[in-house]
Amino acid sequence: MNNLLIWQYFTPFFVLTYNYRMTAIDKSSLGEFDLIGKYFTRKGSSVGSNVGSNILLGVGDDCALLRPPSLGNNLAITTDMLVEDRHFFTDVDPFYLGHKALAVNLSDLAAMGAKPLAFTLALSLPTRRVTQPGWLDQFSKGLFKLADAHDCPLIGGDTTSGPLTLSITAFGEVPQDQALRRDLAKEGDDIWVSHELGDARWALGYLRGEWSAPQNEFEVARTRLELPTPRIELGQGLRKIAHAAIDISDGLLGDLRHILKASNLNASVWIDQVPCSKGLMSQSTELRRLCTLRGGDDYELCFTASVNEREPIERLGTSLGLKLTRIGKTTAASKDSGRIDLYDANNHLLDPALTSQYLKSFDHFK
Ligand code: ADP
Ligand code: MG
Repeated sequence: MNNLLIWQYFTPFFVLTYNYRMTAIDKSSLGEFDLIGKYFTRKGSSVGSNVGSNILLGVGDDCALLRPPSLGNNLAITTDMLVEDRHFFTDVDPFYLGHKALAVNLSDLAAMGAKPLAFTLALSLPTRRVTQPGWLDQFSKGLFKLADAHDCPLIGGDTTSGPLTLSITAFGEVPQDQALRRDLAKEGDDIWVSHELGDARWALGYLRGEWSAPQNEFEVARTRLELPTPRIELGQGLRKIAHAAIDISDGLLGDLRHILKASNLNASVWIDQVPCSKGLMSQSTELRRLCTLRGGDDYELCFTASVNEREPIERLGTSLGLKLTRIGKTTAASKDSGRIDLYDANNHLLDPALTSQYLKSFDHFK
């Protein structure tokens, strides 16, 4: 048989098989546009519902349309991606995953002092997630609950089949010259952190079987890992107060070092003053330090401010019901910036070997 004949011979079988497979998927699964319509389009919500909204057109056209920020304001833009098995476990609650995908982006806006405006969602989704009962429903509920809490509508995105990956781009607004940049810390600034650090890493270690933990305290820590709170109000409150800020996603010391390098400074940090939960406090000093100093995924803010701002910062913390703790100060650097001297509870400088242990923060390629 020549090639053509072989083709004719097999084609009906091929077409049948192919059709069968298509129907099998179609029966249980939504198409791309049904899926976007069902889970990611909300009547009235894609066009901002708030008075004076900057959003003219949301989901459904080739582009969303936004008004430019009002005079004297800058647009703040950030993208963060979550990849299955890299940033979250396969069996994570989809409601939490929807929350976290947006939370990590809002956290970047917070760290810049920006007010959220809107976001887009690029979604790569395996078919089994589309057919898994309730998965997309819960994912979009978690996403929209946090979006609504910050009046930050979903205005567009892209949906494709593929390995589970969630990429969000968030847009915010910040008055010109008030953005909390990394490169504007000053020598002699206090270094502050919000709330408590380390629980996310502590919970992650427990889930990975690195250590055990008391059950009820573990549940609290797990919530901090899976449902992080972006410190949006704190970021905006710090606009005229702080010199520099960063959100802690990869570990306190590594993230602080980004500020120090950008601002050409060094720092001293009192590591036993770094606030943590009761649960983590009850663990060994070594584990507590590891989680608070090196652990990522806390999404608290680390910021620097002049010593003259201590009272306004304490008032801000009280008004937000949020613990703000001074953990160190910035110091002058000569040519090599970014050195962090660590002091223990007795004010003793830590051994350099131990210091370098705590300084290792998360890096995807190391
Ligand atoms: P185009 O082919 O013109 O880029 P698409 O067909 O990809 O548009 O998407 C159709 C509409 O649905 C667009 O308005 C797009 O922004 C929106 N969209 C696609 N995926 C998502 C998603 N995951 N979340 C929100 N909106 C989405
Ligand atoms: Mg188009």
